[in-house]
Amino acid sequence: MVLGFLLARAGVDVLVLEKHADFLRDFRGDTIHPSTFELMYELGLLEDFLKRPHQELSRIGAIIGDFAVTVADFSHLPTHCKFAGLMPQWDFLNFVAEKARAYPKFHLRMEAEVSELVFENENRVDARINGRVTGVRAKTPQGSLEVRADLVVGADGRRSIVREKAGLEVIDLGAPIDVLWMRVSRDASDTNQTLGRFREGKILVTLDRGDYWQCAYVIPKGGFAVIQQNGLAAFRKDLETVAPFLAGRTAELKDWDDVKILSVAVDRLRNWSRAGLLCIGDSAHAMSPIGGVGINLAIQDAVAAANILWDPLARRAAIDEKLDEVQKRREYPTRMTQRLQVFAHKRFIGPALRSKAPIRRLPLPLQLLQRFPALRRIPARVVGLGFRPEHVRTPEANQRSV
Ligand SMILES: Cc1cc2nc3c(=O)[nH]c(=O)nc-3n(C[C@H](O)[C@H](O)[C@H](O)COP(=O)(O)OP(=O)(O)OC[C@H]3O[C@@H](n4cnc5c(N)ncnc54)[C@H](O)[C@@H]3O)c2cc1C
Repeated sequence: MVLGFLLARAGVDVLVLEKHADFLRDFRGDTIHPSTFELMYELGLLEDFLKRPHQELSRIGAIIGDFAVTVADFSHLPTHCKFAGLMPQWDFLNFVAEKARAYPKFHLRMEAEVSELVFENENRVDARINGRVTGVRAKTPQGSLEVRADLVVGADGRRSIVREKAGLEVIDLGAPIDVLWMRVSRDASDTNQTLGRFREGKILVTLDRGDYWQCAYVIPKGGFAVIQQNGLAAFRKDLETVAPFLAGRTAELKDWDDVKILSVAVDRLRNWSRAGLLCIGDSAHAMSPIGGVGINLAIQDAVAAANILWDPLARRAAIDEKLDEVQKRREYPTRMTQRLQVFAHKRFIGPALRSKAPIRRLPLPLQLLQRFPALRRIPARVVGLGFRPEHVRTPEANQRSV
């Protein structure tokens, strides 16, 4: 959506295909980091964006056993917004779609599920291996749709059909966790904005969505079957152990249909592109929830791709030659972020899930963060700005159609 918006704004004809009918569904994560707010500022949209319902967190904290800790402090970042925002992803996507529609070259087609790629000279035996990608085929309620394009961009997430059909090689870095995703109502008296809670081998993250908490309960990969066998009552009790303030309200989880499992993956493509096709976001590199950075990284990819490709796309010339540059620009931040996520899985999350004993001492890095508050600026920078932050370099070519 962000790439579509930027390209249409620069005068490139864009069609975004989305398989669902609307954006109103449970996405993974709600975090809008200062890097994304900064892009909104550069686009002149920040003021309007901040009017949409959201929460602002200038610090990120956690409760580890009985210790309340602050992990990151955004208030010193060199950005206009010195906080992370929490906004349901449907509100974010609707905002971008609304702004993009002001440009006549932006087109969005909902309920269009890409199922195949179109290749040049399709009847040649090696077309799928060596041929240029020239479009996509999609399923719509009205029947099948074929779209031809100078460039196809796979931004279809961790289970990307585009990357699969393009035969791009995936390097799997492994993830030892999955997440159970559910809602529990929020009381007006719940003032605690702490995001993460760790206790007796249990980890729960609560995201404030106004009248309810979006809860993410972290489990060992493949562990959902055992949790289900133990029964819903035991699961509710586990939730209340880690987040006592939810006591009584977990009864709102009436059956397992109220609990969704989100699979966590960390992987990346060896090559993000081939002639006529580019992958960005989770389609190029699936991210773990650690740090809540995946959405923001996908947006940074979109900005880099627009900066590099808008001119060849507008001129409809030498597009393929530029595709490699997007990976060259974005691979370093991706590798660094994934390295930290894999480290956190191994060093903190895995041991925290295995250790059922009460937590008597904080791990050394957390002790240091509590003793020397200035150190909290480091995680704030890594999470809030990321490695190699992007800036909007695309022009505004079209007049807005108000
Ligand atoms: C449990 C969990 C929690 C997370 N929490 C956070 C968080 O708090 N903050 C954060 O920044 N990141 C979080 N992440 C990571 C984040 O979800 C991803 O990195 C981010 O969503 C990637 O964005 P994307 O646009 O590349 O893909 P997606 O957000 O997956 O979007 C892909 C889009 O493509 C559409 N689509 C898929 N297939 C097709 C098709 N065939 N045809 C047409 N459309 C299609 C989908 O409907 C979807 O709209 C979390 C991940 C997990 C697993």
